[in-house]
Amino acid sequence: MEGSIAANLLAVEERIARAAREAGRDPAEITLVAVSKMHPAALVKAALRAGHKSFGENRVQEALKKYPALREAFPDLVLHLIGPLQTNKAREAVLNFDVIETLDRPHLAAALAREMEKRGRRPPCLIEVNTGEEPQKSGVLPREADAFIALCRDRFALPVEGLMCIPPVGEEPSLHFALLREIAKRNGLSRLSMGMSADFEIAILFGATEVRVGTAIFGAREET
Ligand SMILES: *Cc1c(COP(=O)(O)O)cnc(C)c1O
Repeated sequence: MEGSIAANLLAVEERIARAAREAGRDPAEITLVAVSKMHPAALVKAALRAGHKSFGENRVQEALKKYPALREAFPDLVLHLIGPLQTNKAREAVLNFDVIETLDRPHLAAALAREMEKRGRRPPCLIEVNTGEEPQKSGVLPREADAFIALCRDRFALPVEGLMCIPPVGEEPSLHFALLREIAKRNGLSRLSMGMSADFEIAILFGATEVRVGTAIFGAREET
């Protein structure tokens, strides 16, 4: 598996470049976030050796086990938190992640603001929007997004730079990507994290600036 990581990265980068060109966009605007959750550090290291820098993890604890050693060897790696964040892990998130993509409620906004103030570290934040309004999923509801964005910026002075979404499984993702883009646009936000292995090319067509790709790079996960 380690040997094929570089080839997989290259193949995904090529698909990103093609999708960008087809959308009339500059491929350089799009960051590939390699999602390494549930894969061992050795595979991440193979990607780092191939020159890749941006990674995503969905659990704080798992990231804390894998990434400090990797960061020592590769200080310019950029780690994104892409999974739900509990308020009591805000400190670890602020200290260990370079982008927090799952800001979605006032309590968490308050906790992140407090920790950023204390730690002197201000990782950019994306607000997760539950575009499919799925009850089991985290993320702010689309109709509440504008007010929540304003709260994060004005009351908590958080470095909010964009939005993130995970469309419902089995639904056509385009409508969700278009909705996320619309909310970002009317709020003057430039970063859009959307698109995974199955649909990142469509997301690029709808303006994604970061795509989160796991399986197409690291292979299948053993889902728990
Ligand atoms: C696991 C995960 C991904 C990557 O999914 P793949 O289908 O393996 O590319 C992207 N985003 C989030 C939030 C994830 O949890």
